[in-house]
Amino acid sequence: MKLLEGKTAIVTGASRGIGKGIAQTFAEHGANVAFTYSSSEAAALELEGELTALGVKAKAYKSDAANFAQAQELADEVLKEFGSIDILVNNAGITKDNLLMRISEEDFDKVIEVNLKSVFNMTKAVQRTMLKQRKGSIINMSSVVGVKGNAGQTNYAASKAGIIGFSKSVALELGSRNIRSNVIAPGFIETEMTAKLDEKTVQSWRDAIPLKRGGSPVDIANACVFLASDMSAYITGQTLNVDGGMLT
Ligand code: NAP
Repeated sequence: MKLLEGKTAIVTGASRGIGKGIAQTFAEHGANVAFTYSSSEAAALELEGELTALGVKAKAYKSDAANFAQAQELADEVLKEFGSIDILVNNAGITKDNLLMRISEEDFDKVIEVNLKSVFNMTKAVQRTMLKQRKGSIINMSSVVGVKGNAGQTNYAASKAGIIGFSKSVALELGSRNIRSNVIAPGFIETEMTAKLDEKTVQSWRDAIPLKRGGSPVDIANACVFLASDMSAYITGQTLNVDGGMLT
């Protein structure tokens, strides 16, 4: 029996990077996967085909996680198409890094909207369905930066720390209905994006990590499978650092 057999998951921001790894790993574990993207339509459709070939139901939705009405529409469509929503992974996120001295109001607001308000939008959109089902697992993607802070990332750190407070509060509000809410705080995860960085700089980051390597999207996805599955049935309100020991 696969760990996520028969469960339906929504994964936001899965056209590339960590979200794509989560969608693929969920499908390998038997989940039906509805996932979103912002603009990478070709990549999203390719992933939809790849997941479907694994024998699960999969569909890509263009949906702006920062938009309250679109989140509601997405949840309605997924419920109609898939019949249930058992797992929500709020993964979509962006950065607009700058020192506080130089950061614009627009770049602060945008990062809060896409990274933090999106978690509110999507959680609210699936809440009624999960309440009716009397079960659900919500997984929110924070960051080591949300736990520790980082120079040049005040907007990003605030959004990622906000996710932790939001998620703990949801765990307290919805625990009695068997709806769990947990956070994953990834460290340095190597994706197509980091492949473009200077190799010497990246190697110095790897050397500073106790496990001596950057993480992969699959490292994050495996932690998501655990939190999404009934293996973690008694775990809620927690933040799991998946960072090779970075915060130790
Ligand atoms: P990424 O490669 O930049 O991918 C971001 C994904 O989010 C893409 O699928 C993108 O879609 C989607 N997206 C962006 N804005 C969106 C919006 N408004 N609505 C819906 N989807 C949207 O990012 P990543 O590195 O995989 O990171 C994924 C999550 O992990 C983020 O929350 C990030 O903060 C967090 N994280 C990453 C790291 C790391 O080292 N990579 C570390 C800690 C935490 P399009 O392709 O259409 O643009």
